[in-house]
Amino acid sequence: MNTKQQIESLRAALREHNHNYYVLDNATISDYDFDMKLKDLQALEEKHPEFFDATSPTRRVGGTVTKNFETQVHDQRMYSLDNSYSKEDLEDWEKRIQKNLGDVEVAFTCELKYDGASISLTYEDGKLVKALTRGDGFQGDNVTTNIKTINSVPLQLTGDYPLKFDIRGEIVLPFEGFAKMNAERIENGEEPYMNPRNTASGSLKLQDSTEVAKRPLDCLLYGIVGQNIGVISQWQMLDKARDWGFKVPTAAKLCKTTDEVMEFVEYWDIHRHDLPYETDGVVIKVNNLQHQDELGYTSKSPRWAMAYKFKAEQVSTVLNEITYQVGRTGAITPVANLEPVLLAGTTVKRASLHNADQIAKLDIREGDTVFVEKGGEIIPKIISVDFAKRPQNSTPTQYIDHCPECHTELVRTEGDAKHYCVNYYGCPTQITGRIQHYISRKAMDIEGMGSETVTLLFQEGLITNYADLYTLTKEQVMPLERMAEKSAENLVNGVAASVQIPFEHVMFALGIRFVGETVAKKLAKAYKNIDALMIASKEELTAVDEIGERIAQSVVEFFQNENNQKIIERLKNYGVQFELSAEKLENQTEKLKGQIFVVSGVFEKVSRDELKKMIEDNGGKVGTSVSSKTTYLVAGDKMGPSKRTKAETLGVQIISEDDFLEMV
Ligand code: AMP
Ligand code: ZN
Repeated sequence: MNTKQQIESLRAALREHNHNYYVLDNATISDYDFDMKLKDLQALEEKHPEFFDATSPTRRVGGTVTKNFETQVHDQRMYSLDNSYSKEDLEDWEKRIQKNLGDVEVAFTCELKYDGASISLTYEDGKLVKALTRGDGFQGDNVTTNIKTINSVPLQLTGDYPLKFDIRGEIVLPFEGFAKMNAERIENGEEPYMNPRNTASGSLKLQDSTEVAKRPLDCLLYGIVGQNIGVISQWQMLDKARDWGFKVPTAAKLCKTTDEVMEFVEYWDIHRHDLPYETDGVVIKVNNLQHQDELGYTSKSPRWAMAYKFKAEQVSTVLNEITYQVGRTGAITPVANLEPVLLAGTTVKRASLHNADQIAKLDIREGDTVFVEKGGEIIPKIISVDFAKRPQNSTPTQYIDHCPECHTELVRTEGDAKHYCVNYYGCPTQITGRIQHYISRKAMDIEGMGSETVTLLFQEGLITNYADLYTLTKEQVMPLERMAEKSAENLVNGVAASVQIPFEHVMFALGIRFVGETVAKKLAKAYKNIDALMIASKEELTAVDEIGERIAQSVVEFFQNENNQKIIERLKNYGVQFELSAEKLENQTEKLKGQIFVVSGVFEKVSRDELKKMIEDNGGKVGTSVSSKTTYLVAGDKMGPSKRTKAETLGVQIISEDDFLEMV
């Protein structure tokens, strides 16, 4: 096999595995093998840019940054749907259709109404060439680079696809992935996202496609528009789309009567909770495309389709008590403790109240009867109060002004929705929270120790910070509840083993506010060791790629704190890794030391991310905007004209991708 064939064969294999896994839900290769093949392909493509292909599976990892999404006109308008809420509504609709079409038999295709962000994909020659959001229906935003990162979107079709067509669908964020994203955010001390739908549509407009690639988005298709598609019905259309490689959910039904339609609706009204993603109704479409044509459109929606909206899942129950949780960063979250009630198939006992403003806005009080709704949120939310049922002696909720754990006065800084307990060293929940974070899997990954153990150790006065973990002895631990000789030994060994954990993870484990996994890695790489990092100024820090003011401020404050300095000194003595490993350092040079690069546009030989990595690995810094401090502007294709002008006025040298590769 020559190189070209080798590349083609890898691409074909990866495409197929990808389709099997993400579209058919049927893995045919291990993740590891997939990654290996992808790496091989990446390496070959890097060596042979002459075989570049925009639809290669390697393109899914992202790498391009879009500052402004271009607005483009839809070839065919994207319509809304009329809504119906009862069987009567549906029967009326069917009558209108029959009247319109005359004496013919009409069948209906029922599909689920996926709740996410609408998308229109354009394919030419079997290749994805464009993806537009719905926008106002006439024109939408071009989000192609972001859509390409979604694994279930085929970049290259198979089978007897037409030369050119658009296909419409919905970008959704499945519950599981959404929950995972939120768990990570909470772990990083960030506010969780509200619901999957908003997060999905927000994802489409992220500037950095690498970020989009990390989100577990899915694309569900339901309609083809274009000439000569080669099908005569909606039902056939769904089948064809599947043949060409699209993900078209199989939860659909061809119905002859309104009764059959209602059966489908009623079935899914209950079973939708078993689906991995959110749905908010059923869409009923006249099956025959000829009939659809005859029926046409009103000014805003097709006459041949109707949405049947599921009733929002809502129940009312009594709010017994409002309690307050303290997070590891000191953030206070009010929680509604409810009289248990069945909602969407699960018993609900608690609902999030978010913050003081939310409570004030809805005037929520203990003893109130409240309406609870479960949308895509993991934790249900209170949407309103049933004022008619408010007890006579009810008084407005007084938001707490002192920490429920340590009684320190709470602080709320301007622009922050939350109150904070600032008793960093004395607040027991914050102390244990930080230690629990330190031992967690993505941080120091200490085996043989769980969250409850941390709380116990703290209560017994054995630890007050994570450095204390390294002083624990088997004898101290053994008397604790549910500890035995073996488990005590495991705990001590687990702690001892953590000194091998690489610096990048240690940086995350320290639990600096706003320093999540990614930022921790960036900092570790940029500074290589903790001593350099500890004396970095806010200005220096913000020069590191992706480090903004807020993070820089937090890092500086953390290291200025004497207590933290002492803890780090102790950790050092225990042998915890506070510099990059020799192996990691080896790939790094100081060639670009002191130089600040701004990278803009699209590159041919390496992705943007790789380019940035090369800059950082070689001691350079990546800046976000051109300023007088910028040493070089690395200009790719389609670079923003304003960057170029700015560089020219400031006399910043503009270099090409090749110039840069030459330098390193
Ligand atoms: P609405 O925004 O309420 O007018 O509903 C129209 C939207 O429903 C369209 O923009 C589609 O993106 C979305 N939708 C979700 N599932 C389907 C489906 N199976 N068929 C048609 N539209 C759907
Ligand atoms: Zn406190």
